[in-house]
Amino acid sequence: MAEHFKQDSVTAVAVRIDAEHPHGVVFDPHQPQLRVTDLGAVRGDGVFETMYALQGHVRKVDAHLQRLRRSSTITEIGIPPEESWRAAVELGLEEFRVRGQLPEHLSIRLTATRGVDGEPASDDPQFAGTYWALFTQVSETMLENRAKPISVTLLDRGYDAGAAERAPWLLLSAKTLSYAVNMSALRWAKNHGFDDVIFTTSDGQILEAPTSTVLVLKKEADGPRLITPVLETGILPGTSQGAIFAAAEEAGWKLGYGPLTPEDLYDADHVWLCSSIRLATPVARIGDHELAVDEGYTAQLISFLEQDKPVNHPV
Ligand code: PLP
Repeated sequence: MAEHFKQDSVTAVAVRIDAEHPHGVVFDPHQPQLRVTDLGAVRGDGVFETMYALQGHVRKVDAHLQRLRRSSTITEIGIPPEESWRAAVELGLEEFRVRGQLPEHLSIRLTATRGVDGEPASDDPQFAGTYWALFTQVSETMLENRAKPISVTLLDRGYDAGAAERAPWLLLSAKTLSYAVNMSALRWAKNHGFDDVIFTTSDGQILEAPTSTVLVLKKEADGPRLITPVLETGILPGTSQGAIFAAAEEAGWKLGYGPLTPEDLYDADHVWLCSSIRLATPVARIGDHELAVDEGYTAQLISFLEQDKPVNHPV
């Protein structure tokens, strides 16, 4: 263990994967690592996943690795095989244990970039780019805020519901590193007095939030129905939504997939934004429309996530 790790009170660990270290090697995330010519930095040309580990148990690993593979196929960025990522995750967790402090709440971010233009890191396309896993403690602010009701604004994402199918080069459903637009929308929302954003298509369909999936609950005569937008519009297939749906179905709840309009959200009994780290955050207001918040249902969704069911998306 390097000296700087012992002195490092910031609980961050990083693991690199390359052809020489197909099962990963620990490096210091506080030291420079990435070449300035890496296309991940130059063009945002890469893909990533963010996973949540509670007490060292990483949730929905299979679903995240499947989605990473899917993003890599869409972007044609070669990535190491699944066993490399699994080994890297284990190595990172072990590094925390060796340091004697495995944080209770960890964010594990897997990143793969296209690497340095014209200089593949290996002849093997599975290792030609740049790959790492970054483990950081989930902030206190996130932990305190994630179940607190929020206000959101609807923002036009600037393309219609058919764009994903018509224009696959837009990479709409891949989880790429190019999140500048998503972050800009969040800043816009905050500057206008909202906590978060729900994107719509230019023809008025509900998409997703900049870092979360939209989940709607309708109370029907024979029980609750959970509804989420269709994936055909190019939104990210959410692993949290998928895990919630899997557990809810077993609990006898009904499920549904949009298309959803803003009116569907205003008329819903409850709306949440879901993601791996935030879990299920209730939405109390969309623009000028107040929504009811129910702590019992929020707790139920969070307990569905605790079951960590395999995710099965309809596409
Ligand atoms: N949609 C977008 C655009 C995201 O970035 C994310 C997660 O970061 C999600 C949805 C939620 O995905 P998951 O539940 O797999 O974390």
